[in-house]
Amino acid sequence: MGEEQFVTITLPSKGLAYEDPSTGTIQVRPFKGRDEALLAELTLDNAKKKFVTIIKNVIKGIDPEKLTSGDVQYILLWQAINSYNRDYPIQLVCEHCLKNIQVVCDLSKINSVELSDDFVQPIVVKLSNRTVQLRLLTLNDEISEFDWSVQGKSTYFYLYALSIVDEKMDLLAKLSMLEDMSPSDLNVIRETLKKYDHGPDMITPYICPLCEYEGKIELPFRYEKLFSFSKQP
Ligand SMILES: [Zn+2]
Repeated sequence: MGEEQFVTITLPSKGLAYEDPSTGTIQVRPFKGRDEALLAELTLDNAKKKFVTIIKNVIKGIDPEKLTSGDVQYILLWQAINSYNRDYPIQLVCEHCLKNIQVVCDLSKINSVELSDDFVQPIVVKLSNRTVQLRLLTLNDEISEFDWSVQGKSTYFYLYALSIVDEKMDLLAKLSMLEDMSPSDLNVIRETLKKYDHGPDMITPYICPLCEYEGKIELPFRYEKLFSFSKQP
């Protein structure tokens, strides 16, 4: 095995969502051929589980399953830029001339949203008739949601149930609490989690080749687009 070229990066969660805050800074190395071989086997069904293996091979400092969803996206975007190139070809409708165009967006222009320094977990949320405590979702939660859906079960409340921190309640009790909750209380939970969204915002500028309008587009976070080895639009 050759020498591993690890570099230090600071995750958008800054470690504030982890038990050990020093894990906000981790080491990562660009992909190698063997990582690409794993990537090439990604399908919708196995994507998240495979990511654990792929990420485990390229980072040091944290268990990939514990990473927040925002940090996972940040690491994958870093890989797309540093292991391939900054190009993200896409077809879109120009906001100005309304024609279909093909542009190549620059992944390096994407900003990352960081958790604010005063973030603490669990997040205490006041609902109409009770208080709940929430935590941010992780890659492990997303894998667990996928396994739940494979069993044919509804995933509508699943991630929200996982985000509730309460040692006295098991998962089914949390799910049933959510099912009995008012839509406005549900919305408070949803909005609270959304408020702490972090990671790449996926917005990049483009210039229309037909009318020269300078617009912005939110790129879909699609693995096959970030890592496609030919990068066709
Ligand atoms: Zn245009």
